[in-house]
Amino acid sequence: QPRPAPLRARAEIDLAAVRANVRALRDRTPGAALMAVVKSDAYGHGAVPCARAAVAAGATWLGTATPEEAFALRDAGLSPEQVRIMCWLWTPGGPWQKAIEADLDVSVSGTWALEEVREAARAAGRPARVQLKADTGLGRNGCQHADWAGLVTEALRAEAEGLIRVTGLWSHFACADEPGHPSIAAQLDRFREMVAHAERLGVRPEVRHIANSPAALTLPEARFDLVRSGIALYGISPSAEIGTPVDLGLRPAMTLSASLALVKRVPGGHGVSYGHHYVTPGPTTLGLVPVGYADGIPRHASGTGPVLIGGKWRTVAGRVAMDQFVVDLGGDEPEVGSEVVLFGPGDRGQAAGTIAYEIVTRIGTRVPRVYL
Ligand code: PLP
Repeated sequence: QPRPAPLRARAEIDLAAVRANVRALRDRTPGAALMAVVKSDAYGHGAVPCARAAVAAGATWLGTATPEEAFALRDAGLSPEQVRIMCWLWTPGGPWQKAIEADLDVSVSGTWALEEVREAARAAGRPARVQLKADTGLGRNGCQHADWAGLVTEALRAEAEGLIRVTGLWSHFACADEPGHPSIAAQLDRFREMVAHAERLGVRPEVRHIANSPAALTLPEARFDLVRSGIALYGISPSAEIGTPVDLGLRPAMTLSASLALVKRVPGGHGVSYGHHYVTPGPTTLGLVPVGYADGIPRHASGTGPVLIGGKWRTVAGRVAMDQFVVDLGGDEPEVGSEVVLFGPGDRGQAAGTIAYEIVTRIGTRVPRVYL
């Protein structure tokens, strides 16, 4: 592969890896459709290119948090004939009429939201596609068990009026990334029960779904009609307990790198970066990496790392600043302009005390995405 021209920093996204991950996920979830979760700019990887790659490889649904994220996909040409799009983050007074006109599936967790969607459908002059969300134990969005019959009854009434179509029944796990956690079985039981209840009342959903990536990868009984996968699409494991990307047959899609901007000799006892939290133990060579917390390098990575320069892993010396950080290169003197790889294979967060989801979604907008 020819290397792209040197840049201060770049996030290379390998779309062939995204396609391969979609195929791997589909192979592991026979019988279920795949919803590619591309919210938050496809976890920092670029929503439109990743959505296109996922659809090309067999995803039949796209998932976003906000309706605006979904509109951007429709505007980019991902048409209703080609792919269904669901957005699930409810905001009162949201653009629900436009969502209906864009053929989105919207999520509803309560009768107040249903009422708004009904009004929007009246204004749009066509029915809204509504997916009813059950809170099976996450304690976040979703309708409580006690309120479920009321919501389902209202939804059926709106369906009879021709204002909505209940296309889905769905929920979300709290602890699927911790295999064996007792809440997983409890949520599954609750989901089956709430789905059966809604179906007894007369709902005929096209899709029932609860699985995110960790559940899709580890729990065949959680697949139902569709799995919603985000992190695994990008080749990242949901958690160390689930396995490494290699164990899971996934290929990390993003490589974050920068060009070494300066290399200089300093004496021992030299303080490095704000607060002088690192002091050189003896005469050494320092290298300057021109990315910082404004680019998404966690300030918590100070003193940890690791980053790869000239084939060796190095730690961050002193504090990560807004736009740059320093590494102690010891006796080595790599050339200015050498590539600095900021993501290690497999580890995208543990060293910084966070999760990979946070690392990739926080890579700054001033880091260009380069598509391979
Ligand atoms: N479904 C919902 C409702 C989500 O909020 C998310 C992401 O947080 C996902 C699915 C995808 O989860 P994952 O990235 O673990 O596959």
